[in-house]
Amino acid sequence: MLVVMESHATPHQIGAVVEAVRGMGLTPHPLPGATRTAIGITGNTGAVDPRALALLPGVFELIRVTKPFKLAGREMHPEDTVVLAGPTRIGPKTFTLICGPCSVENEEMILRTAEFLVQRGVKLMRAGAFKPRTSPYSFQGLGLDGLTILTKARQRTGIGIVTELMDTDNADAVEQAADVIQIGARNMQNFSLLKRVAKSKRPVLVKRGMAATLEELLMAAEYVMAGGNYEVVLCERGVRTFADHTRNTLDLSIIPPAKRLSHLPIIADPSHGTGNRDYVPSMALAALAAGADGLLLEVHPDPARAMSDGAQSLDYAMFDALLASLKRMADTVGVQIN
Ligand code: PEP
Ligand code: MN
Repeated sequence: MLVVMESHATPHQIGAVVEAVRGMGLTPHPLPGATRTAIGITGNTGAVDPRALALLPGVFELIRVTKPFKLAGREMHPEDTVVLAGPTRIGPKTFTLICGPCSVENEEMILRTAEFLVQRGVKLMRAGAFKPRTSPYSFQGLGLDGLTILTKARQRTGIGIVTELMDTDNADAVEQAADVIQIGARNMQNFSLLKRVAKSKRPVLVKRGMAATLEELLMAAEYVMAGGNYEVVLCERGVRTFADHTRNTLDLSIIPPAKRLSHLPIIADPSHGTGNRDYVPSMALAALAAGADGLLLEVHPDPARAMSDGAQSLDYAMFDALLASLKRMADTVGVQIN
């Protein structure tokens, strides 16, 4: 349910509606707009009759929200959301690059990569300190030491940090080190984790589960927003199909319907989406053409020696070539690379 206030409604009237919603045991979400405020209502609306709200002073109308993703959907929030992510923004008119190695391997390669990226105007670096690996024998990440290295890179270069949180135990530490908290594909429906990041002050990047529908992805975002954190970015990273010519099937066709149904920014990850660095540049350009708000890209100083995902990581020269192509296309489609 959405309560749309009159354009001249006073803060007192808006406050009275918020209180009335709480009094019904429901959760109000005030959504200030350009001309008027609306108040989204979540909770079990079946148990009470919110129609009484229509009679309160300053209320223009009540609108039933039909989709199950109330806060992530466009019905309650027609304008595109801009997510403030550390030193930059993710949203309309910009194309945000989040680049870096799969894992934090050591201090030297992280500082070098951070400096390389900053020189090229990239404002967000990705790198996992906690790594979800298929095999328990594979490199699991440096953990808390990895976060310390990322913090040093941020202090030295000013680059914003995007890093994965795998379990609630490490939430405080990741929150301190990260400008954006990444929820990996394998944890897209880890509801305890989603509820924890819903309490965070940091924006959250939710990666699509490998067999998740768009609605399931939006419901994962909904968990974060329902808990009070409205700063959510979606990420398409490929899904599992019968095709085996790439590691996953990068489903760029999710971008237009995601934009139609949701106001949240959506970025694409052609690195995990293809699993092969040779295919990353063309799919990165395709993501920009498809209307994505940015990219998550694996970039490594020496991919042949990477401790994880070397085959899909761009080296610095490949990244430079891709950046030049992205800039040309961005000019054509009228967005700013940041
Ligand atoms: C990653 O981005 O480092 C990662 C592990 O990706 P995903 O969760 O999409 O597999
Ligand atoms: Mn990876």
